[in-house]
Amino acid sequence: MKILMVSSEAMPFAKSGGLGDAVTSLAKALSRLGHDVRILIPRYYFIDRKSLESLEGGMGVPIGTEEHWTAVYESVLPKSDVPVYFLDYEKYYGRSGVYGDSADQEYLDNPERFALLSRAAFQLCRKLRWIPDIMHVHDWPTSLVPVYLKTLEKKTEFRETASVLTIHNLGYQGVYPKEHFPFFRLDWGEFFGSGFEFHDAINLLKAGITAANCLSTVSPTYSREIQTPSQGFSLDGLLRHRSRDLVGILNGIDTEVWNPETDEYLPAHYSVDDLSGKAVCKLVLQETLGLPSDPTVPLFGIVTRLTDQKGIAEMFGPGYGALPQVCANMDVQMAVLGSGDKWCEDEIRALSQRFANFKGRIGYDERLAHLIEAGSDFFIMPSRYEPCGLNQMYSLRYGTLPVVHRTGGLADTVENYCQDTGEGTGFMFDDLTPKALYNTIGWATWAWYNRQEHIDLMRFKAMTRDFSWEKSASEYTALYSRALAMRKSEVG
Ligand code: ADP
Repeated sequence: MKILMVSSEAMPFAKSGGLGDAVTSLAKALSRLGHDVRILIPRYYFIDRKSLESLEGGMGVPIGTEEHWTAVYESVLPKSDVPVYFLDYEKYYGRSGVYGDSADQEYLDNPERFALLSRAAFQLCRKLRWIPDIMHVHDWPTSLVPVYLKTLEKKTEFRETASVLTIHNLGYQGVYPKEHFPFFRLDWGEFFGSGFEFHDAINLLKAGITAANCLSTVSPTYSREIQTPSQGFSLDGLLRHRSRDLVGILNGIDTEVWNPETDEYLPAHYSVDDLSGKAVCKLVLQETLGLPSDPTVPLFGIVTRLTDQKGIAEMFGPGYGALPQVCANMDVQMAVLGSGDKWCEDEIRALSQRFANFKGRIGYDERLAHLIEAGSDFFIMPSRYEPCGLNQMYSLRYGTLPVVHRTGGLADTVENYCQDTGEGTGFMFDDLTPKALYNTIGWATWAWYNRQEHIDLMRFKAMTRDFSWEKSASEYTALYSRALAMRKSEVG
């Protein structure tokens, strides 16, 4: 099949979270299965033009009141032959961020920025004389692509092109004032007809969910949770309506980048047969962060965006969160890496001063993220909701047992510890409260000091589980076939 991924992020060029990892890994896995898969993303300012090839000639994109004159650059995903196209348009992408200059300051013209990208997807295919069977789009930024396929491009050379929309995180829907709507070049009738309308504003994801031939989310449990009022972010009704076309396909991980036997960021390598390198990583992690060097103390790692979704209130909330109590009362160490909400960054700095057994770093640091995954014994991930989650899978692969809230992809990937048999791969709790988190960290600590043979057993099981993309990619292929059949009946 010919597949075009249209996305706001793709590793290693642009990434703000798991979406960037998923798009790249899925594209590579599909290509290994023999599909002709290509990616389109914007050329943000931080992607150096000099490292890219320029496609000859400009490309006009008709949107808003004019034809925007853009340029397209080309490269390939590293270690693959998957082409990546970069849409170059200084006015919209010549900035330092993907969605905004910081997490709480998104660009006010994001509807225009991503509408241009969505419209450009069609122009690019025309320019390349390459009409895909599938346009696979990701989250709200590219949700206009399925809408265009259903409206402006219904009877064009894209008449046999089907759309698949993957929801990586329902919490972000692209809601904007309706004043932006005319820019999309759609009839005002489509404001209601295509499902944009949301409390008298535009909801891009809602329109994408309404229009796409097939929908997916990134884990089976999350695909069920988003159909409930408590996790549906006001779109549960629409998702229930589309539930026949909605599937949950678990993300894989990039097993080349995240492999403890070859990981280029690690000071020592290890495998399930010989964990001595993991002990070296633990010592280096302790030294790096200024924790006392001690192989015997259980070390808990955290790598996260510091946003409410990740359970930061339950971990760090002043006078509320569990971690200060854990550090004060238990013989453990904590290694934290994150960036995001300012109050939480401040709290992590304060806790690093207050406790000798708690050390945090603020910022985005790929190397330290790998070192924390490898050097820790346990990984804490109490997400309020988790569409899939990558970090717990990295942890499992690195023999670092996750402590998680039983939700979404965490529920699908971690098996709870049974202290009678030593079965399981991690420690789970059902209610997201500081007390439950505290007790579950206590439970893991108890197992560490009293059931080391269970820890060894769990590590073995965790490290030998298959999280490669091959399985997911073949599930996506089946979904593409379904979408194609639906498109056929849609256009008649
Ligand atoms: P989400 O996409 O919701 O942030 P995931 O667990 O799916 O959560 O993916 C997070 C990705 O971002 C992982 O690859 C993780 O290692 C990385 N990450 C998050 N915060 C940081 C950070 N501060 N430094 C380095 N990597 C980070």
